[in-house]
Amino acid sequence: MRGYRVHHRSEPVADLLRPGRLSHLWTGTDDDTREGVSCCRSLEALATYFADRGANLRGSIVVEIEGDEAPDADWDADEGAVLLRPTRIVRTMSLREAGIRPTPQCRRCGSDADVRGGYCRGCRMILASRTAKHD
Ligand SMILES: [Zn+2]
Repeated sequence: MRGYRVHHRSEPVADLLRPGRLSHLWTGTDDDTREGVSCCRSLEALATYFADRGANLRGSIVVEIEGDEAPDADWDADEGAVLLRPTRIVRTMSLREAGIRPTPQCRRCGSDADVRGGYCRGCRMILASRTAKHD
């Protein structure tokens, strides 16, 4: 089957093909380890998955992977995620090509907290108070 995952540019895509690759989830008390690479079953599922999380995807790409489903269920299986044992990297694409909008960043401080009109909430307040003083 095919799977899609968001991958940081700093990590070689070929690393996904390393046999016995493990996925980790830090639960707060211990490291839950399962075999396979965490993927979504479609680009639509991947876009939805990240839209809901508001994750910072700067510097990331999307990788299409071909592989066999690993025996363990993904932690987010109910949201369409699946653990794959990758056999082949099909292609890589930019977030834009994959239809994923990266979380907007504040133009002033780089924060991604509630960014609207190019600025985060904190910077919007600072800029608004500065403008007010000039009146
Ligand atoms: Zn800011």
